[in-house]
Amino acid sequence: MDIDALVAGVIGGNRRAVARAISLVEDGGAYLERLSAGIHANTGRSATIGLTGAPGVGKSTLAGGLVAVARRHGLRTAVLAVDPTSPYTGGALLGDRVRMQSHATDPDVFIRSMATRGHLGGMALAAPAAVRVLDAAGYDRVIVETVGVGQAEVDVASATDTSVVVLAPGFGDAVQVAKAGILEIADVYVVNKADRDGADEVVRDLRQMLALGAERPWSPPILTTSATAEEGIDEVWATIERHHAWLADSGELARTRRARARREVEALAAARFRAAVALAATDELADELEAGRLDPYAAAEELTRRVLDGR
Ligand code: GDP
Repeated sequence: MDIDALVAGVIGGNRRAVARAISLVEDGGAYLERLSAGIHANTGRSATIGLTGAPGVGKSTLAGGLVAVARRHGLRTAVLAVDPTSPYTGGALLGDRVRMQSHATDPDVFIRSMATRGHLGGMALAAPAAVRVLDAAGYDRVIVETVGVGQAEVDVASATDTSVVVLAPGFGDAVQVAKAGILEIADVYVVNKADRDGADEVVRDLRQMLALGAERPWSPPILTTSATAEEGIDEVWATIERHHAWLADSGELARTRRARARREVEALAAARFRAAVALAATDELADELEAGRLDPYAAAEELTRRVLDGR
C-alpha cells in the first residue's frame, strides 16, 4: 500500500482517501502506525463534539440538524457514528437516516459509521485515531455520535472537546444517566423530543441532579429541542460554540487535550503490553504453576521479565 499517497490524499481532503484511512484505523496494524505518523503534524485544528445517549433519543436527527447549522456557517463538517459495543455496524447506523441523506451529496460533509475490526485498543482508542484523520483532512467540526450510555460510550465521548449528552422522555430517567457515569463528562445536556409529554420532567430531574453535584468551572446548560421539527438546534449549536470558546480562553482546551493525549498513549502502550504478555505466556510456564514449582506471583514476575527482555 502506498501510505505516502494516502497521507497526501487525507491532508488534501480527498474523500476516498479519508474513507480508506478510517478503514485502516478500524483494522489496526502497521499501516495505521505509518498513517498516524504521516498526518500527525496536520491535526489539532478541528473542534470535536461528542453526542451520547440511549438508542432512539434522537442523536442522529440532532447530528443532522447540527450539520445543517455548521454548513450555514460555511464549516466543513464530519460525522463519525460509533457503536463501541458492537464489532460490526455494517454501515446501517447512519445509512438510512433521512436527515443524514440530505447531506449525502454535499462535498463538504463526510458521514461515516465505524466499527473496530482489529484495533488492539477497541473503539476507545480507534475513535480518537479516526477523529484525527478527519481533523487532518480539514473538517472544521467533527461530530462523534456514540450509541448507548455505558462505560465504553463514556470513554469515546470523553475523547472529544465538547460532550453533549442527549436525553428524551421515555428513554430511561436521569438517574440511569447518572449511574452510567455520564453526568461527569457532560458539557451540554439536550432534552430532545420536547414535543412529547414528559420532557419537562426530564429537565426537572436533570436540574435536581446537577444541583447535587460538585461545582464545576463550566456549569453544563440544559437545552430542549425537537430535532425532527428543527427546533432548538441553533441554540444547541451556539452553546457548543460557546463551550469551545470558553475551553480555548480558559486554557482548559490545551489542558484537557494534553491529559487526553497522555491517557491515550498510556492505553496504547498497555494494549501492546497485554498482547506481548499473551504471546510470552507459554505452556511450560503453565506446567510449572500446575506442578506447584511456581506460585502465581513468581510466574507473573517471570512473565513480566520475558516481556521486558523482549523474549
Ligand atoms: P438515535 O438512535 O438516538 O440516533 O435516534 P434517531 O435520530 O434515529 O431518532 C429516533 C426516532 O425518534 C426517529 O424516528 C426520529 O424521527 C424520532 N425523533 C427524533 N427527534 C425527535 C423529536 O424531537 N421529536 C419526536 N417526536 N421524534 C423525534
